[in-house]
Amino acid sequence: MAGDLRAGESGREGGTSVKCPRCLNSNAEASLFCRGCGYLLLPNEEVECENHSGTVAVGVCVMCGKPVCGDCSVTREGKMYCDDVAHSQMAADFTKLATLANEFEADIIVKNLSLNGVTARQFAAKHYAQFFSFANASPVSVFVNGKSTEEAKRLLKDMDLEEFLTY
Ligand SMILES: [Zn+2]
Ligand SMILES: [Zn+2]
Ligand SMILES: [Zn+2]
Repeated sequence: MAGDLRAGESGREGGTSVKCPRCLNSNAEASLFCRGCGYLLLPNEEVECENHSGTVAVGVCVMCGKPVCGDCSVTREGKMYCDDVAHSQMAADFTKLATLANEFEADIIVKNLSLNGVTARQFAAKHYAQFFSFANASPVSVFVNGKSTEEAKRLLKDMDLEEFLTY
């Protein structure tokens, strides 16, 4: 399977997708980076590290899309993150709970969860718009501490906000 970059058999509408050889995530054709793990999909394309000019990036942070090199990237469970520890921490210790159209909605959810004792954080892609080489379908995401995921889901349902749940 490793060499099988083309994933036309996935049958997604609107053309071909490219399967990442590392994480098997399906990416839009001609994607420079894998949305699933952050690694560069087109090794012949040289992208400069955002932190170290003149150094070739090995991938992008899966949270913010920032191009990073081997020296300033962090890999956790096969996914690449930038030097902002909040990004790798959020992904390792937090679970994506909901996706929202804007920060006001996310704020309401974060505040309500906090009032009920669930630690939540929001992540807005727009703050990193300059880095986003992959289109981000969810402008604002709410993350909760992994241990509280079930509790948070229940709270959102109680608040009639379950339509925003990621899954
Ligand atoms: Zn991947
Ligand atoms: Zn980042
Ligand atoms: Zn670097």
